[in-house]
Formats: sequence, structure tokens, C-alpha cells
Amino acid sequence: MSRALFERGLKWRKERDAKIREKRKEKGLNVQFGAYVDGATVGDHIDSYWEYNRLVGEADNGELLSEKEYTKLKELAAKTSHNRLFVFWKCLATGNECQVIGPDSRCFCGHSYKAHAWYNIDTKKVHCRVKGCKCPCFDYVVGHGRFWIKCSCKCDHAEHVHNGVMKWCKRCRKRGKECTQFYSPYSCTCGRPWSEHATIFETKAERKALGKRVENLGMGAASTAAACGGLTTFSSLLPEQERLDEFASSSSRGSRNNEQNRISHAPLALLKKKTKSARAIGRKETLRKK
Ligand SMILES: [Zn+2]
Ligand SMILES: [Zn+2]
Ligand SMILES: [Zn+2]
Ligand SMILES: [Zn+2]
Ligand SMILES: [Zn+2]
Repeated sequence: MSRALFERGLKWRKERDAKIREKRKEKGLNVQFGAYVDGATVGDHIDSYWEYNRLVGEADNGELLSEKEYTKLKELAAKTSHNRLFVFWKCLATGNECQVIGPDSRCFCGHSYKAHAWYNIDTKKVHCRVKGCKCPCFDYVVGHGRFWIKCSCKCDHAEHVHNGVMKWCKRCRKRGKECTQFYSPYSCTCGRPWSEHATIFETKAERKALGKRVENLGMGAASTAAACGGLTTFSSLLPEQERLDEFASSSSRGSRNNEQNRISHAPLALLKKKTKSARAIGRKETLRKK
């Protein structure tokens, strides 16, 4: 960048900051993070909001948890942080950890990882904590924003969700058709089909034994780390193919024979069956078109 260009940018930023300062003064928006409100500083209040949000998520159904319930959850977070769960959407064929599950990653049930039972480190039964949701274990659904994987019946995955459990397609049944099981024709960035992937849970100790990374990134604090899924470094936010991670490629591939990872998805044999049935559905569709 040339010096002139840099100076022009700097001048623009200074003018912008002065304008913002002016507007803040006008509206009386002068937040003092050290000021005391209700017995704690403004900064402390913001910190506790962050902590609450990270541990509870939408599992409080829009109503603040009681002090007792929240304290219990905080204790669980502290108790499990020493051996917390790392969660990945993994390709079972190659062993790639294709997607790192973070606190806000979505499950098929429609709820975030942080709203699930991330503290069940012994059983790895990470069920959903949202009231009325019967999701038995977090299962990553590929997508974000307006893009979410669809079923081969061409309906949204949400049409297959019944109180958090994946079953037949509601939209198809309304139209007199039948789609009994969700199956996505989506291909991962690793090049393998969706059906060869599964959500896996590894404890810190299990990952350490495999020589994989276990540092905390998700806002750093030990008090909330247990709810941060697989986040370790900044590059863990990227799909494995795009990750700058000296461990990711070699060690995750080497770990594919480790059957101790609990798999929330169906085992590979079943997945193959799924692939077959989906092919059959596809065939039926082409026949119908003819
Ligand atoms: Zn749920
Ligand atoms: Zn769920
Ligand atoms: Zn379907
Ligand atoms: Zn459908
Ligand atoms: Zn993949």
C-alpha cells in the first residue's frame, strides 16, 4: 500500500471516529464499563450475560433460569471442563474432521449445541435440553443462514423432524407421497457424500491420547469451555480442507480405527443401506418421470 493511500485511509477513519464521538455525546451514550450498577460493574454484567448465553443457549425457553438452576449448570460446566467433549462432523470413510461443532452449530432438532447436554462426558448422550424437544443426541445438520441441506424428497430437513426426532416427511405425506427417512444427496467439501459422515464426540483425554489439539478458543474462559464443542484454534472454524492445522489432516486420518468414539449417527453399515434406499427412491422418481 502506498503511503498516500494509507494516510487517506487514516484521515477517513479519524473523521469517522470523531463523528461517532459527537453522536454518542448527543445521545448521552457514555457507557462506563467500570461504573457500578446493582452491586457490580457494567463490565461484569456484560460478562455474566455472555457466560449465561454460552452455557444455557435457548434451553431456558426464553425465560431466565432460576439462580439455583443456573448455579447447578455452572457447577456442571466447571466439573466437566477438565475432560470436556470435543465434537466434530467427521467423514467415516476418510477420517477427516470435516466440520468442527461450535456452541452455535445446529442439530437436526433445530437447536444449538450449547442448548444440548454438553456436560454428559461419560455417556456422551448429548440430548437436547429445550423443553418439549425429544432429541436424544446432538446430530449436526449441514447449513447456515438460508442454506440447509434438503432431503432427497426435495423437502427441508425440518419437515422430517417430529419433536426433535427424525422420522417421516410431513410435507410429502400431505401430498399423498411417502418419504420415511431423511437422506441428503449433499456432498461435503471433502468430496464424500453426506451419508458417509457422522457427528462424533471425543473427550479431552481421548483426543490427547491421539495427539490431537485440546486448547480452548471459544471465548477462552474455563468456566464456559465445556460448552464449546470442538473449538480449539481460529482455523478450527474452517472445514478441514481449508484449515491451517498441522494436526488435523494426519492425526484425524490415523484415528479412523478408533472405535471408542461414540457416533450419534447410524453406523456405516446402516448408512450404506440408506444409500441404497435413496438410490431406490431416485430410481422410482425417474420411472415416474418417464
Ligand atoms: Zn432440540
Ligand atoms: Zn438436538
Ligand atoms: Zn424426505
Ligand atoms: Zn418430503
Ligand atoms: Zn467431509
